[in-house]
Amino acid sequence: MSNRAYNFNAGPAALPLEVLQKAQEELVDYQGIGMSVMEISHRSKEYEQLNEETQELLSELLNIPSGYKTLFLQGGASTQFAMIPLNFLNAGKVSNYIITGSWGKKALKESKLIGETFVSAQPEKFSHVPDISQLQLQNDSAYLHITSNETIEGIQYQQFPDTGSIPLIADMSSDILCRPIDVSQFAMIYAGAQKNLGPSGVTLVVVREDLLEDIPDHIPTMLRYDTHIKANSLYNTPPVYSVYIVNLVLKWIKEKGGLEQIEKINREKTKLIYDVIDESQGFYIGTVDKKDRSIMNIPFRLKDEHLEKQFLKQSEEDGFVGLKGHRSVGGMRASTYNAVPFESCKALSQFMVEFQKRNG
Ligand code: PMP
Repeated sequence: MSNRAYNFNAGPAALPLEVLQKAQEELVDYQGIGMSVMEISHRSKEYEQLNEETQELLSELLNIPSGYKTLFLQGGASTQFAMIPLNFLNAGKVSNYIITGSWGKKALKESKLIGETFVSAQPEKFSHVPDISQLQLQNDSAYLHITSNETIEGIQYQQFPDTGSIPLIADMSSDILCRPIDVSQFAMIYAGAQKNLGPSGVTLVVVREDLLEDIPDHIPTMLRYDTHIKANSLYNTPPVYSVYIVNLVLKWIKEKGGLEQIEKINREKTKLIYDVIDESQGFYIGTVDKKDRSIMNIPFRLKDEHLEKQFLKQSEEDGFVGLKGHRSVGGMRASTYNAVPFESCKALSQFMVEFQKRNG
């Protein structure tokens, strides 16, 4: 389809064209039932099947070991920032956070509202992941929280800290399913859907069951993980349409060959853009240490704001969408999530080369 934009939005973000077309095809008549998936009961056998199948697809793609539960919740990743300490930061314990950017700071803020909270590491400048090999965690630690990919700063963990018996919890909102991971390293992972999983409205949580044993009694029903586990994510009305699109996205990833293949394509896509930055002799300025560069969000700057404005204006005129950096950091950012086609990245890299020729 030639009128699809070169979509580099940070989230909500590009969805695979094939998924949108399938959803369009099924919109008024889901699997021959004469209604859309939005018009049926979440207690119907069709929705229960969709719910089950979506969990199974995730288990398969992420290779989730036994002993973990998959949940589809609401309230976005931001609600998880609070639910994690509410459920796991019991009296007499401390929570630990490694801060590598803006989203980690927001998660930290919620934990501080709830209990004793400790920053285990935070670099002065958000340009890299701190050295995690020497990490010291107290015995009374409830968990260590990390942000596997900082969406605004474009900083991504390549290896995850070994926390021994202390639960490791990761916000994977902007890099879930971009590469294979070893789920057994984590006690919990979570992600708002609106980057790699589907539309906004649903939040994925994968949690190890033994974490749920000590949830304090006073935590309200909807904010307790055990409520949603007992009800298989059907305690209240779930975001049915969002889960439906997630289901289609997971099938699309499977058809692409799974996460190994997806990672390979993501690396090829981002190399096109990082190469232009690295070969520009300082015209484009990368803001992240090479070792920690993200394959999902590529922030870059130009030498002055005037030139950046020009870059954004001209790229928009040429059909590129979403390249403005987050308002908190400025500059540019290309978000290259799974559904962003190789061709869009190729086109952007060519635009960048041309822009430099005209303005360098
Ligand atoms: N964590 C990260 C890493 C994010 O990128 C975002 C959203 N951009 C959030 C948390 C917040 O997600 P939500 O809007 O779903 O609450």
